[in-house]
Amino acid sequence: MTLHDALAAEALTIGTDATLAEGLRRLESAPALVLIDADGRPLREVRAFHLRRMGLAGFGPDTPLAALPPGAAPVAVGEAEARNPQALMRERGLQVLALTDAAGRVRRVAARDRRDERILLSPPHMGGEEEALALSAFETNWIAPLGPNVDAFEAELAAYLGAPAAAALSSGTAALHLALRLLDVGPGDVVLTSSLTFIGSVAPILYQGAAPVFIDSAPDSWNMSPAALERALARARAEGVAPKAAIVTNIYGQSADLDPILALCAAHGVPVIEDAAESLGADYKGRKSGTLGMLGAFSFNGNKIITTSGGGALTAHDPDLVARARFFSTQARDPAPHYEHTVYGYNYRMSNILAGVGRAQLRLLDDRVARRRRIFARYREALADVPAIGWMPEAATGRCNRWLTVATIDPDLGGGATPASVIAALAAAGVEARPVWKPMHRQPLFAGAAYTPHDDALSFSDLCFARGLCLPSGSDLSDDQIARVADLVRRAIG
Ligand SMILES: *Cc1c(COP(=O)(O)O)cnc(C)c1O
Repeated sequence: MTLHDALAAEALTIGTDATLAEGLRRLESAPALVLIDADGRPLREVRAFHLRRMGLAGFGPDTPLAALPPGAAPVAVGEAEARNPQALMRERGLQVLALTDAAGRVRRVAARDRRDERILLSPPHMGGEEEALALSAFETNWIAPLGPNVDAFEAELAAYLGAPAAAALSSGTAALHLALRLLDVGPGDVVLTSSLTFIGSVAPILYQGAAPVFIDSAPDSWNMSPAALERALARARAEGVAPKAAIVTNIYGQSADLDPILALCAAHGVPVIEDAAESLGADYKGRKSGTLGMLGAFSFNGNKIITTSGGGALTAHDPDLVARARFFSTQARDPAPHYEHTVYGYNYRMSNILAGVGRAQLRLLDDRVARRRRIFARYREALADVPAIGWMPEAATGRCNRWLTVATIDPDLGGGATPASVIAALAAAGVEARPVWKPMHRQPLFAGAAYTPHDDALSFSDLCFARGLCLPSGSDLSDDQIARVADLVRRAIG
C-alpha cells in the first residue's frame, strides 16, 4: 500500500475502538465513514443518523463503535473488480465504498459523487431521530392510530406555536376541511379565499358544498390583498351576502398582512382561517404564523419544511375548537361505551407512528428555517448580476421561512426566457424547478367564480404566475448544488 492509498483510506475509515462522540465529530465533515476492524477489514457504513440512533437507545458518548449492529448493505468490493464504484454505491444506496486488497484490507475509500445526481424541489430532510421515535411506537405496540406520540406531538407543536392546543391530523387538507366544518360552513355558503394558492387550500370549500370567492394578492407579500378584500366584502354586503369564513394562505412561507385582513373580516363578522401549510416557522410581527386567525392549518406533507411523510394539524385560540376538531377527526363518537353518533365525522387523525417522525422533525424546525433562508440568500447573491431576475420580496411585517426560493423573470430583460423555458433547461440537467401556483380564478374547475383583483389595473396573482419560478430549496441542498442550479439559471437566461 502506498502512503497516498493509506491516507486516502484513513480519511474515511474509523475503527471499532473509536467512540460514539468521536464518530459524530468526524461525521460533521464527511457524508459517511467505513467502520473497520483491528486488521483494517471493512465492517459497515456509518452515518450520523446511525450514531444518533444509538444515543437515543441509551448508549453514552464514550461507547465504542464496536457496539454498532452489522449494516445492511455490503460496504466493500475488491479493488480489482471495482470498475464503477459510483454505480455500485448508487445501486446499494451507499455514501461510501471501501476498495480492498487481496487480503480484504481497506486500501481506498470512494465517496459518493453527488454532482450529477438529480436535485429535487423540496425533498424530505430527516435529522436522525425520526426513526427512533417512530420505532418507539413498535416497542410499546402503539401501532393503533392514537397514542403517546400523538399527544406529545400536539403538545410540542402547540408549545412551539405559543397556541393553547393543536390537533394532529392526516393532512393539511383535512385540517382545512375540519376548520370549515367547525365554522358550520355548508351548502350555499360563500367563503372568501386567496386565489394564489394550492388546490388543497380550496377543495375543502367544495367538500362542504360552499362557493369560493377569490381574492387577489398584494405586491408586498404576494398574499391576500387587503385592498381587494375590502372591495369584495363591500360588494358582498351590497348584495346581501354574508361570507361564512375567509381562508387566507401564507404563500411560500410568508405571512399575509394579517392586521388589516383581520380588522376587515371582524368588521363584517367573518372568521379567518389561516392556511399556514407552507409557513410553519415563519412569523408575523413576532407571532408564529398560523396563530393569528381564529383557526390555523398546517401540513406535514413530504415536500413541506418539516414532514411526517403525510400529515397536518389544526390550531385555534379556543381550545374547545381544537377538542371539537379531534372529535370530528375520530368519527364523531359520542361519549358512550357503545358506538353512539348524533353527527357524522371523518377519519382524519394522525397515526402514532407518524407523530413520532413529527416530534423529531419539530425539534429541527428552527434549523430548517435558517437553512432555507440561507439558501435563498445564496441564490440571490449568485444571481445578483442577472438583471432579468427578481425575487419574491420579504414583507416588512414578518419573517418568511423561505420554504421555497421564488425568483421572477422580467420578460423585457430576459431575452425571451420565461419560467417555462428555464424550467425545461433545468429539467434537462436533472434539476427540478416549478412554476408558481396557477391562480385558482384561472382554473377550469372554477370557471365563472367571482374574483377581485388587487386594483382595476392589476391582477397581481396573474403576474406572479406569468413570471414566477420556484427553485430547488430543500434544506439539505449543498452550496455546490446551489451554485450549480444558479449557473444553469444564468445560462438559460443567456
Ligand atoms: C400543501 C398545502 C396544502 C395541503 O396540505 P396536505 O397536507 O398536502 O393536504 C394546503 N394549502 C397549501 C397552501 C399547501 O401548500
